[in-house]
Amino acid sequence: MDLCERSPSYIRGIAPYQPGKPISELAREMGLDERKIIKLASNENPLGISPKAKAAVKKALADGARYPDGNAFQLKAALARRYKVPEECIVVGNGSNDLLELVAGAFLAPGRAAVYSQHAFAVYPLATEARGARGIVVPAKNYGHDLPAMLAAITPEVRVVFIANPNNPTGTFVPGKELEDFISRAPRDVAVVVDEAYTEYLPPECRYDSVAWLKTFPNFVLTRTFSKVYGLAGLRVGFGLMHPQVADLLNRVRQPFNVNSLALAAATAALDDRKFVAKSTRMNRAGMARLERSFKALGLEYIPSCANFVSFCLPRRNGESLAGAVYGKLLRQGVIVRPVAGYGMPDHLRVTVGTPKENEKFLKALRAALDG
Ligand SMILES: *Cc1c(COP(=O)(O)O)cnc(C)c1O
Repeated sequence: MDLCERSPSYIRGIAPYQPGKPISELAREMGLDERKIIKLASNENPLGISPKAKAAVKKALADGARYPDGNAFQLKAALARRYKVPEECIVVGNGSNDLLELVAGAFLAPGRAAVYSQHAFAVYPLATEARGARGIVVPAKNYGHDLPAMLAAITPEVRVVFIANPNNPTGTFVPGKELEDFISRAPRDVAVVVDEAYTEYLPPECRYDSVAWLKTFPNFVLTRTFSKVYGLAGLRVGFGLMHPQVADLLNRVRQPFNVNSLALAAATAALDDRKFVAKSTRMNRAGMARLERSFKALGLEYIPSCANFVSFCLPRRNGESLAGAVYGKLLRQGVIVRPVAGYGMPDHLRVTVGTPKENEKFLKALRAALDG
């Protein structure tokens, strides 16, 4: 078709994002009862939405005919209090995905490049390629970020570096000191984006104060999300912290009403729901230990994870990975996990830590899939 051929070749070359299979879709495809399906495919909070957020959404719905506050006054005020940063340093987004796109929109273009790691989050290549910029993929080290190699990969055309800590889908983690060292060595005219979507799940001994780095590094952009531990993935809200001049640029490419009013209300309330966050991380830690024990008992290798999911490795039979077959067998038992072949990990599957009941159902289905 003529029209589509007029689309820039870098757009036509984009490989579409493959999301986790929705529960309703599996129910339709296999004739299963939705209530019997468990989805452990998208790192969502198995406890659902924070109760405080739910109440706030109900209240905000009454004003649904009004445009949302395009400056997100209340949410920014709450974030400024929590992180002790000026409001001019905050940009809110339709999920933190939006922030990644805004950074790409502000700094990338044809002739420019972004650096990210092999096995890194799929949105980095998507955001880069959509701007006609080149992605420089740095080989991973033990599935994690090889920061010295990433630093060495920064050429004069590089304008952005994307780093997820912990990373998805590997769950790998770089210590704060190493990350800070990386940012201090990166050229000042390169945006270093540290995507901390899972930071709330870090065990206490791994925590680090990245917010404090904003004072030292004007090219540092920190992104966080309400999609994971806060349980608001369906509402789409995240935020970035950065130098006010960088925030000003991002706000120019941002849609004026990029975050809807229900999401704004929910996020503001969820930020205060510390009990919910504590309960979520506690349950995650116990569930992760349970999954790790079971993988060991089953003789399956896994990548030690600091987040709310873990990628485990399936054996090969006749040179072919069992991952695809096991994924299918799990689906037929009503268990949705995530294939990660698209991340260059064809032997792995990624599973989100669920409630204790969901974890047991997954493990039972996994044992059956491996036996059958
Ligand atoms: C889930 C995830 C996000 C969050 O995406 P939202 O758009 O905020 O829902 C960001 N980065 C990584 C690495 C993720 O896994």
